[in-house]
Amino acid sequence: MQTIGVFTSGGDAAGMNACLRAVVRTALREGLRVIGIHRGYVGLLAGEFVAMDHASVSNIIQFGGTILKTGRCDDFYRPEGRAAGARKLADAGIEGLIAIGGDGTFRGAHALWEEHKVPIIGIPATIDNDVYGTDATIGFDSAVNAALDAIDRIRDTATSHDRLFFVEVMGRQAGFIALMVGAAGGAEMILVPELEADTQQIYDTIMAGVEQGKTSSIIVVAEGDEEGGALELARKVRQLGPIESRATILGHIQRGGNPTAQDRILASELGAAAVRALVEGDADKMVGRVDNRIVRTPLRDTWEKKKPFDQDLYDLARALAL
Ligand code: ADP
Repeated sequence: MQTIGVFTSGGDAAGMNACLRAVVRTALREGLRVIGIHRGYVGLLAGEFVAMDHASVSNIIQFGGTILKTGRCDDFYRPEGRAAGARKLADAGIEGLIAIGGDGTFRGAHALWEEHKVPIIGIPATIDNDVYGTDATIGFDSAVNAALDAIDRIRDTATSHDRLFFVEVMGRQAGFIALMVGAAGGAEMILVPELEADTQQIYDTIMAGVEQGKTSSIIVVAEGDEEGGALELARKVRQLGPIESRATILGHIQRGGNPTAQDRILASELGAAAVRALVEGDADKMVGRVDNRIVRTPLRDTWEKKKPFDQDLYDLARALAL
């Protein structure tokens, strides 16, 4: 293999740039030519290719977002779209690909391998951490810390005004961000899609806290937990009794910003590992870190298998908040 392509795709995540830097520099050291593909599968289909040299990834390790930009591409869901993509790659002499993104990106990558035998290695980068085959995805730790900073600030107001706050964090259909933020922020309750809790239960828990003398509370709500999110939940709880509350949606402030040290290091390790995998002739795998070891997982498993929810941490956070 002489030329590889690299792209970022799906939702942006802090650490994508650090990962790109690691991919480019490792590949160059291996004697490969590296082509950066802009805007994920969108740029792949449009032929938005740019040669990457050592300096092209200078001074980016500290920045959130992605210098290659990211994109969502409807054409890639269709076999004809992927066939057009494979032709673009062949025309540019790109013999292997590194895809930095989440499970959607990996589904596209797997299809490209199945249908056109383009060797492709995935690197998990999404704030949601909802990918099997790695303890953490790139961007997760940064998102957790950004949300935690916001919760700490909200706690000052909650305490000063004796108020109850519902704080909604991101995570799509997974509660990983909510669990970490809730546990680290000392939340009185953590509501995640993985575990059922009805409004009456939530109300009763709040009232039990009030009876114990709690004057303020923070309830962390994962975005996927409740149709309508934290606003709707706060409204429903208010209907059950005299509880004054505020709802805050943290939203996109969780995505951007400088990546944490953990994310930069994970990104560097996985970037280098992905290039090694391609050079060794591997394909259709994702590189991840599990129990501090770099492992390769078949792409299909990354979305078909479910990453377990950390029930022990949830129980601990709950016990400590009572
Ligand atoms: P993420 O990679 O963060 O999960 P998306 O789910 O938006 O982000 O996926 C990114 C892109 O990957 C999509 O816009 C689409 O081009 C491609 N993709 C997603 N799912 C599939 C699929 N099932 N088949 C083919 N391509 C897909």
